[in-house]
Order: sequence, then structure tokens, then C-alpha cells
Amino acid sequence: MSTPFIRGQMMEQPLLISSILTHASQAHATTEVVSSTATGAVVRSTWGQLAGRAAQLAHALDALGIKRETRVGTLAWNSARHLELYYAVPGMGAILHTINPRLFPEQLRYIVNDAADQAVFFDPALLPLVASLAADLPTVRHWVALCNAGELAAAVSEATAAAGKALAPDDAAAAQATMARRLAALPDLRDYESLLQTQPTTFAWPELPETAAAALCYTSGTTGNPKGVLYSHRSTLMHSLVSIAPDVLNLSARDTVLPVVPMFHVNAWGLPFSGGIVGCKMVMPGARLDGDSVFDLLDSEAVTISVGVPTVWLSLLQTMRARGRKPSALKRLMVGGAACPPALSDAYVNEFGIEVLHGWGMTETSPIAALAAPRNTTPAEVAATLRYRQGRALFGIRIEIFDQAGQPVVHDGRSTGNLMVRGHWVADSYFPAGRAQSPLVDGWFPTGDVANIDHEGIVQITDRSKDVIKSGGEWISSIDLENAALAHPGVAEAAAIGLPHPKWDERPLLLVVRREGAQVTREQVLDVLSGKVARWWLPNDVIFVQSLPHTATGKISKLTLRQEYRDYRFADVEPIVTHAARATAAGQ
Ligand code: AMP
Repeated sequence: MSTPFIRGQMMEQPLLISSILTHASQAHATTEVVSSTATGAVVRSTWGQLAGRAAQLAHALDALGIKRETRVGTLAWNSARHLELYYAVPGMGAILHTINPRLFPEQLRYIVNDAADQAVFFDPALLPLVASLAADLPTVRHWVALCNAGELAAAVSEATAAAGKALAPDDAAAAQATMARRLAALPDLRDYESLLQTQPTTFAWPELPETAAAALCYTSGTTGNPKGVLYSHRSTLMHSLVSIAPDVLNLSARDTVLPVVPMFHVNAWGLPFSGGIVGCKMVMPGARLDGDSVFDLLDSEAVTISVGVPTVWLSLLQTMRARGRKPSALKRLMVGGAACPPALSDAYVNEFGIEVLHGWGMTETSPIAALAAPRNTTPAEVAATLRYRQGRALFGIRIEIFDQAGQPVVHDGRSTGNLMVRGHWVADSYFPAGRAQSPLVDGWFPTGDVANIDHEGIVQITDRSKDVIKSGGEWISSIDLENAALAHPGVAEAAAIGLPHPKWDERPLLLVVRREGAQVTREQVLDVLSGKVARWWLPNDVIFVQSLPHTATGKISKLTLRQEYRDYRFADVEPIVTHAARATAAGQ
């Protein structure tokens, strides 16, 4: 028998994504939503107009036969139209499945088929990709290009012409014919604006249970198939509500936000929703994410806060240094998705007076779970470097570290353990429910990250457990090595990987991209490291490379590097000799 209790006498209203749109359209109707297009021109709209168009979209989806629980895919950059999908699809009870166009075709096929998307909304520039995939995506009944009729017609001609580019005349004609055939075979190819045109601008958003699924996002899947994380309306609202708090993003109606992080990377870290809650001006950057384009948009739209992965801030920093100034109104940047190197955040803070918010999270945590924010009791010297670490858990998230035996590790700021999380916006299983065993261990989600926590609850991620370098039974943090190397002004990017070593099990190899025009040498890199890490951590070798491989979400791909350097041998390691070669050498 359940324990009796007195029910609180307050209204019970489910936490629904549609409530954000209703609020934004009433309380912030005239606040702008700005989109940068492929040509660099901007299109202006408002939260009020966006709500009307989201209602039109919901009617249109209804007319296409999209029902509750149906998955609707998006293959698109950040734009106001994409934002309309963010509200209309979950608002009407269907599930928004954001897809990363930078994934390999086989991953895209897997993801769309696994999700069984029935409609996919895509950027017209991605038409050639769509055409090459569609035949293998039998569940998709509607392909909608995010543009008007004229732009779709132009995209079709362009895709056909481009198919023959750089080919001999005969081959070009054949490739163009194949493209034309594929485009003609796309089920129900149409443009977005015609779809919306005649629909009413109000929609009775249904009162769904707050635990209903709202959005689906697949993990990057560095090993095995990508895994689907299914967010609910409740988890999305809880995440967005907490992430606007002063000690998190400190978001308000006075802000102008530019999410550089794509809307296909963990829902642009919740900004499409947290932006609607506070009713701030939104600036959607489209596909042009190079330092110059991002700078210009931040500058001209007077953006106050922007959010993205470290590689993006690295290229913006280069532009800012070259132009000798910061974008006019920029006050703070949130950095996450990978460790923010201290040298990078120091440059923003010390050279340009921009606050850097370093946060940690993952697809399975919606994603923001921790963020570095000082308190006024934090000693000045600690506060100054707090952003080197990933910060404390947000309210609603619990964080703990455990040793290999599953015992909690002491919070002394040094001892490391496997990082586990639990909370209102943490996944408890992967999509579809029931297919695989729950990943939880005693109710905790194992993150795969290794971290220490100090007595104030500040978390420092020392590595991904797959990336940690295991040398002589001890662990070397690849992140620490990279951060130390990045302290050299001639180093633009660095990656440390562990490679097999017969004596030590693994030893570090450091790959370095020189800053343009810099002459930095191997010895200089090792010198700068010597002052910052233990002697036995020093890499056995430093190799200079032109560039480093990045994943589809802009992080350095250690997996690719480990594969590329699989056959590399350190100088102190005997070359591997095959049995046959050894036999020849022995004169057998
Ligand atoms: P994803 O699910 O693709 O967003 O990747 C999540 C992973 O990115 C985490 O488990 C971490 O390994 C890494 N990550 C995210 N934010 C940070 C950060 N601030 N510092 C270090 N690693 C991070």
C-alpha cells in the first residue's frame, strides 16, 4: 500500500516545449530572430512571427500524415526555419530527430533507418547528399528543402550541374544523368515555404504528458553504431530552465545569443529553448562558421554571448588578433564539447576582456551538466583559473567519481576516478527502448570520462577513458599534455595519443600544428612541457603536422590519429620484425 500524502493544491501543468513558444510569442513577440543565409545576407524575423510559422508548420505536418511519436528528421544548419521545426515537431507530439550532415554516409544511413524518420527537412545545399542517400532510406516519405520554390529549383539545377564537374565530357553527362534520376526519384520532394503558405497561423498545441519523447539525437559513435538518446519534454524544459541561471549561462532578455554549436549537436546545447524562455534575440549563423564570418555576424548583430566547441573559438581568436579587436558587444563565450585549453581562455580573458564559461556535458546529459562559475568566497587566485576546469554540477545533476572496484573516490582535487552522473536530464537507456540493456550502473550513468573533484565540488576532466595514456601502470592525461603544449605561442593545435610500448605498455606521442608563420621546434615544445608536467609524462616524440583530423562535431579525432599512427614506432623501441624476417636474419 502506498504511503498516504496530502496533495499540494497547485495547478498541475505538464512541462511542455510548446509552452516556451507560447510564452516567447506573447512576452517577447517583437524580439528578433535573425538568420544568416548561404550568401551571407541576413533574414529578419521575430519570436512572434516564428510562433505563427511554427503553427503553420504543425498544420502542414498534420496534412502530411505526421502523427504523434513519428520521427521527423532535420539535416540542416542553424536557421530560423530550423528553429520553427524545433518547436512545431515536438509541439504537435512528434519527435524531432536532428541529424549531423558531416557524418559519413554509412552513419547517416544507419541513423535515419534506425530512427525510421518519415520526413526529412534539409538545407538545399545538401541536396546532392540527400540524393545519394535517399534510395537506402525507405522510411522517408517526404523530403522538404528549407527554402522557397525558386530556390529549390535552383538547387536542383546546381546539384545536377555540379555532378558533372571536373569530369571528362562523357563521364560528366553520365554523372549528371544519374543525379537527375536520383533527384526525380526523391519521394515527395517539396519546398518549405510552399508547404507552409496556406496554413493557419495558430495551432492548438496538444497537452501531452511531460514525459513524452520530444527529440532524438545520436551520439557521435566513435566505436560501434551511433546510439539514439531520446529527450522528453520534461528533461528538455528542466535543462533549459536551469541553464539560463546566473551561474550557468546567465541568459536574459537583454542578451543576443549566437549558437555557433550546430542545432544537430545535442540540440545546440539547449539554446533554441533557453533562448525562448528568456526571450532573447537569436542570431542563427547558417553554414558559414569560419572565424571571419562568425566575427562579422557577432559584430553586426551586437551579439553578447556565443556558444561552441574550442576549435571554433580558436579560429575566431585568430580573426580577432588579426583585426586587433573583439566583436562590438561580445561579453561572454561558453566553451564545451572538449576541454578548453587554458591558453585559449586566457587569450579571450586577458587580451579581449571576454568572460569564458567552461562547461562539461555529453549527448546523454542534454548536454550541460557542469559549468565553472566562481563564488565570491572563492579565493582570487583560484577564481582566476577556475575556467581551466569544468566546474560544478548544475542543480538537478549529481556527479560522482568511482574507482575500478566501484568505490567512491575522495574529492581531493587530485585523485581520479570514472565519472558518473545522474539527474533530471540524463539518459537512462538508448533508443529504441528495450533493444539494449540499460547502461546505468546502480542508477548512475557512466560517462566514459576520467575526472577528479575537489572539496568544493569542482570537477576536472582529465581524459576520456579511451584516450588516457597508460604508462607503466600509471595514467597520463592527454588533455594536460595538450594544454601544456598549447601554452607555447607557436602551437596552434595539439593532440596527445598513447601508442604501444614494450616496456611501459603505452607512451605519449604528441602531434602539433604550428601557428601560421611560427618556427617552433621539437625541443622548444618539450621545453615548455618540462615546466608544466611530470618528467615521466613527457612525450617520447613530437611530430609536426599540417592539420589534425576532427570529428563531425568539431573535436579532435583521437580514434583517427591512433589508426593513422598505428605503425609508428618510438625511437627507443626495436622495430617490429616479422617472424619471416627474423628467420632470414638468423640464417634459417
Ligand atoms: P558528445 O556526446 O559528442 O557531446 O561528447 C561528450 C564528451 O565530450 C564527454 O564525455 C567528454 O569526453 C567530452 N567533453 C565535453 N565537454 C568537455 C569539456 N569541457 N572538457 C573535456 N571534455 C569534454
